[in-house]
Amino acid sequence: MFYTNTRIMKLTLGFILAASAFITATTSGCKKDDSSGGDSGGDVSVTSVVTAKYTLQLHCYPAATTLRSNGTPAHVSPYWLVGHALYEAQIAGQNTNPGSIGVQSYAMTIPTNPAEATSKEATSLGPIGMALNGVAIFNDREGGNVPVDAGVLQSFDRAGAHPGPGNTYHYHFTGDFTGNDDAKLIGFLRDGFPIYARKDNDGSYPSNLDANGGHVGTTADFSTAIYHYHASNVAYMGSRFYVLKAGSYHGTKGTFTF
Ligand SMILES: [Zn+2]
Ligand SMILES: [Zn+2]
Repeated sequence: MFYTNTRIMKLTLGFILAASAFITATTSGCKKDDSSGGDSGGDVSVTSVVTAKYTLQLHCYPAATTLRSNGTPAHVSPYWLVGHALYEAQIAGQNTNPGSIGVQSYAMTIPTNPAEATSKEATSLGPIGMALNGVAIFNDREGGNVPVDAGVLQSFDRAGAHPGPGNTYHYHFTGDFTGNDDAKLIGFLRDGFPIYARKDNDGSYPSNLDANGGHVGTTADFSTAIYHYHASNVAYMGSRFYVLKAGSYHGTKGTFTF
């Protein structure tokens, strides 16, 4: 037996709705299954935080949650088409690539109780997580699996994002709408662990991050210590941008289809 508790998402075709993306018809969260005892091995359930923080369509099962999103941000960007209500000019010193923000059909499935993997798998090109607004999170690399270079760096907007093939708008960096020099929860990676901006909740920059950019501790959202990632605190190539996530997953990644 399993629960399917669906938040109804009304998607209406058209201009404005592509911007506002999601309308949640109910605020009821997923059924918590902290006591299900499952085999996922983690100590801390992320379900209550996931259901509270995402305004997406969720499908909750005892051991996993699937988050569905159209991948478009409800914030301004130069990658909305000119004339769109959320279009804004690119920030000074940056350019735009030829892409634009396109509607996607994302589904990310994360474990209810994320657990450390015995063998750490490297993150790869494409979506490695989902921000709280449903936009995909990418690592520090681009096509060819090489780190973002100075040329590509020019294409990011003040959200730390740009569109890729298929007009998949995605965050590589901290930015004005997710988190940056603060302790904001940015989203969750595919392994189910949360990712935060550059600071911890006490206002300090974490000093004990492991090779994958995370550590165990409490956060504003988790009163029980949990492994969580932080964005890098090193300005990428001296720019205004800070990488969200490089390296490997701490846990075992779930699926991300699009
Ligand atoms: Zn990219
Ligand atoms: Zn931390």
